[in-house]
Amino acid sequence: MARTRQTKFIFVTGGVLSGLGKGITAASLGNILKARGLKVNLQKCDPYLNTDAGTLNPAEHGEVFVTHDGGETDLDLGHYERFLGQQLGRTSSLMNGRVLARVIADERAGKYLGKTVQIIPHVTNAMQAEILAAGRGFDVHIVEIGGTVGDIESLAFLEAIRQLRHKVGIGNVIYVHVVYLPYLEASKELKTKPAQNTVKDLRESGIQPDIVACRSERDIPRDLLDKIAMFTDVNPKGIVALPTAKTVYEVPLTLEAAGLGDYVTKLLGLGRKKPQLTEWRELVDTIRNHSYQHTVRVGVVAKYMSHEDTYMSVFEALKAAGWAHQAKAEIVWVDAEKLTPENIGTQLAGIDGLVVPGGFGPRGAEGKILAAAYAMDHNLPYLGLCLGLQTAVIALARKVVGVDANSTEMDPTTKHPVIHIMEQQKAVTDLGGTMRLGDYPCILGRGTLAHRVYGKKRIIERHRHRYEVNNKYRARLEKAGMVFGGLSPDGQLVEMIEMAGHPYFLASQAHPEFTSRPGHPNPMFSGFVAAMVKLD
Ligand code: GLN
Repeated sequence: MARTRQTKFIFVTGGVLSGLGKGITAASLGNILKARGLKVNLQKCDPYLNTDAGTLNPAEHGEVFVTHDGGETDLDLGHYERFLGQQLGRTSSLMNGRVLARVIADERAGKYLGKTVQIIPHVTNAMQAEILAAGRGFDVHIVEIGGTVGDIESLAFLEAIRQLRHKVGIGNVIYVHVVYLPYLEASKELKTKPAQNTVKDLRESGIQPDIVACRSERDIPRDLLDKIAMFTDVNPKGIVALPTAKTVYEVPLTLEAAGLGDYVTKLLGLGRKKPQLTEWRELVDTIRNHSYQHTVRVGVVAKYMSHEDTYMSVFEALKAAGWAHQAKAEIVWVDAEKLTPENIGTQLAGIDGLVVPGGFGPRGAEGKILAAAYAMDHNLPYLGLCLGLQTAVIALARKVVGVDANSTEMDPTTKHPVIHIMEQQKAVTDLGGTMRLGDYPCILGRGTLAHRVYGKKRIIERHRHRYEVNNKYRARLEKAGMVFGGLSPDGQLVEMIEMAGHPYFLASQAHPEFTSRPGHPNPMFSGFVAAMVKLD
């Protein structure tokens, strides 16, 4: 009988403040372990009471990352996929709401046999079951605990991972704590006290870290690292400096250079293995030292302008496409709500191409439709992502069908519903987890631009939408120059559109940004940047 492999667990927590890049640290650790030929999975555990990220506002929480199997997850999953170069499933994102919902459902079903249902052991056991299930079949399972140690919210997860060490065996689990070292301008030094205190908090929960990753804005002198080792009782080999990197893709190499790959495999008894990091090093070299031959200015037409996290995968895909074409992709925010027919020419002056990313609801929709029309009329490269396909259809329909053509999402009573709700969505009342989600195949028409950029006839991309092109209007749009270059295998759903005679007008009902990787940009993005470079 084949020996069942013992999965090794690495739990990553964070302290001092949030937003330290715990996700990048976890993903980077995954990267250098995978580079050793190990089978690695990653999972994010979030302490808030949402069931998944589906109903979270991306302006506050960052993009909703969609997995191939239709999970609506935390944006850290995007980092994980990009750093591992592998698809993760929906079980790689666990929110507390899902755990609690399960426990309460079991309570109603009488499964606790009359017992008092408690955080410990019932909730913590349910958490452990999810973590163990996600790790099954992998050599190493890295689990990031969201939030900051010391928050009331994360206590149950901390207790769950503390207990797991005993359940799966002491040598099979390590803990990594990511801390922050603030720089004090007055005394011109980095301070270690907050780091010491957060490790103390972690130890209060019964967890002694094996590794402390120290984030700071500056280089950290060795004696400070030794001081942290001393006060936290961690082997100096386990204290690693993570000064702010020029690119996040450098972090795996920083960890490797600090000897962490060997140290972790030693702690977990995984044997000594040489990492294969050549390709990754080349990527980082390209990103760092590139003397770009081109700069392309990409206008991203959006309503959430506050932070990049909202469109994280879109930006990463654009950057990756740039690296592949010796081009620096410079992002220019275009505020959809401020665009008018009068000012659009000046607002878009100097822009080499437009992206209309995914979005929901009527706010800013008119600006996005205007932008699509402008790109159509001015031979400006256009990349439409989900809503960006719908805005392009509306833009053309307004010229050839009727000026009030719209999506029923934006105007439920429109006379010309060129975009309408999908049949299977009509009865849906719950908002969470009910869209057309995850991988769906699409067949590309021979000789189309889509076919050219993908280089194959059948593609699969990830979806997250409720509305679709109304087939009733297809013929009229086609006559006006729109090509329905990609359709669902039964021909009933429009998956991709393009404009005949345009240098690069390509839009998808899916979200190709989710399958883009730093060294392997998604073809739609790659083609978009190539078109801008050609016109440069
Ligand atoms: N709001 C549109 C729909 O639901 C587009 C969704 C999206 O861009 N992800 O169909």
